[in-house]
Amino acid sequence: MSKSYSQLLRDIESGEIISIILIPNRREVLVEFINGERKLIPIFYNDQKILRISEEYNVPLTVRDIQYEQRLANFVTGFGLTLIFVLSLSFLIRRSSKLMKNMQSFSARSSEVKEDEIRKYTFDDVAGLNEESDELKEIVHFLKNPQILVELGAKTPKGVLLVGPPGTGKTLLARAIAGEADVPFFSISASEFVEMFVGVGAGRVRDLFKNAKAKSPCIVFIDEIDSIGRQRGTGIGGGNDEREQTLNQLLIEMDGFAANNGVIVIAATNRPDVLDPALTRPGRFDRRIEIPLPDRKARYKILSVHARTKPLCDSVNLMDWALKTPGFSGADLQNLLNEAAIYAARNNKSIIGSIELFNALDKSRFGLLSKPLSDPTKKKQIAYQIIGKTLVALLIPTKDKLEKISLFKSLGELSGMTYFTPDEETIDSGLLSRSYIYSKIVISLGSRAAEIIVFGSKEVTQGSQKDLENVYFWANQMVTKFGFSDLGPIAYDSEKNSIFLGKDIMKNKKEYSQKTSKEIDEQIIGIVNKAINHAIELLTDKVSLMDTLVNELIDNETLESEYVINSLNNYLSSTT
Ligand code: ATP
Repeated sequence: MSKSYSQLLRDIESGEIISIILIPNRREVLVEFINGERKLIPIFYNDQKILRISEEYNVPLTVRDIQYEQRLANFVTGFGLTLIFVLSLSFLIRRSSKLMKNMQSFSARSSEVKEDEIRKYTFDDVAGLNEESDELKEIVHFLKNPQILVELGAKTPKGVLLVGPPGTGKTLLARAIAGEADVPFFSISASEFVEMFVGVGAGRVRDLFKNAKAKSPCIVFIDEIDSIGRQRGTGIGGGNDEREQTLNQLLIEMDGFAANNGVIVIAATNRPDVLDPALTRPGRFDRRIEIPLPDRKARYKILSVHARTKPLCDSVNLMDWALKTPGFSGADLQNLLNEAAIYAARNNKSIIGSIELFNALDKSRFGLLSKPLSDPTKKKQIAYQIIGKTLVALLIPTKDKLEKISLFKSLGELSGMTYFTPDEETIDSGLLSRSYIYSKIVISLGSRAAEIIVFGSKEVTQGSQKDLENVYFWANQMVTKFGFSDLGPIAYDSEKNSIFLGKDIMKNKKEYSQKTSKEIDEQIIGIVNKAINHAIELLTDKVSLMDTLVNELIDNETLESEYVINSLNNYLSSTT
């Protein structure tokens, strides 16, 4: 078939070609042959010959205006692109205006802090907090009779700070004040103030106080005040973040309302040490009420309050349960009874007995337990760790009481467990003696000591890792915080230094020389070495007792404290 111009002319003459399309501005023709083939063949500029020959041999020739086609195509593409551009622009504008609307309604909606409508609480619901309640009764008195104080020229506190560990009943107490005084209760958690958008928190604070003033006299309760009330200027991003703006607004609002206008702000925290001093100065949260963990009597009262709605077996003595639960908060005690009720329901019982309470106690102390390992060698190694730690704990005098030992492990533990009830007096006083902390370190090293004695120092395992972490923690505290080392009564690390992340990063944390740092390390190592030798010494002559108890633990998976104590006493009396 023709590829050249002369061949094309010959093909036209021989009738090989059905049609020709002339494209003048590209100087070529599109030729269609009899066999259906199509080809582009170049021609001369302003070629007349091809016109003539095609006419002569009756080959239809059409002329295509490619420029027109191109213009049309360009127009269509241009129009399409413009259309797409306009549509996307209007879509973007609509989306952003919707987002703006959402943001506005979000901040408006979220700043509505509503009055609490749950049931009214009274001081009867707050067990074991008599002292604190007495102080707060004053506030109730003012809320009921504001006129009396006004006439005496006295000013009521604007803000009350409730300080105490989680679950000790701070929220409950604030509600009880509102309930006793029969005034509205506005409650918000400070973390709810702070949102993604800067300024929302401050808006919420404004609205909260606006609503509260409209309903005066009333109580405004701000939970977890430390989440916005931390010292300003300590964040990494400078002082202009949402949290600080919210705090500033809170300070402004607290200054803004006159004393005796009937709004009392009660805030709760378990980190009073991190609060900005501006929050606690007179005129703001100047009254501070400590709510400690309940003591035995208070625990008994709290258990009694929550047992009012639960059918307890006559044999259950709540005082015994108060004795078993040092360190428990009000919320823990409520949870204990609740778990016991769930156990009873699961076993189709209509009343709660001691078995249910024991199960609930184990659950709240140990959490969910997983089965011991089935591999006999590892099980044996873990059993030696547990027995070693237990024996050291029984041989070294602390007032902590051994409860039980078990090959079951709580979640997160590497091995089984040895559970001690901490001494109540120590918890209540919050005072830890040098010998008590040292004993804790020796006990924590009991598992490692047993492994060294029985399996040799090369065969020890990392099963006691958690204990080793405790060992370092306490040894470090002894030297750097409590002044319990040969370096003397010096607190190298103060609490304040470790609170503010921002400050910590920005300043050189260590305030002592490298030489001192080395001496601190040496002291820590010295304490730990002394403690491990002490633990080894206590266990070395008790290998046969350990062997017996390990076998019993493997067989039974759990041993009661009395059994282990008796076995130790028998062993000691037989060897002396
Ligand atoms: P958080 O610091 O975690 O906010 P909180 O100190 O505010 O805790 P609450 O929320 O008041 O503690 O207490 C939780 C639950 O524990 C209460 O609903 C209540 O049932 C129970 N509780 C705590 N303390 C007491 C108490 N003294 N008397 C009766 N119940 C209590």
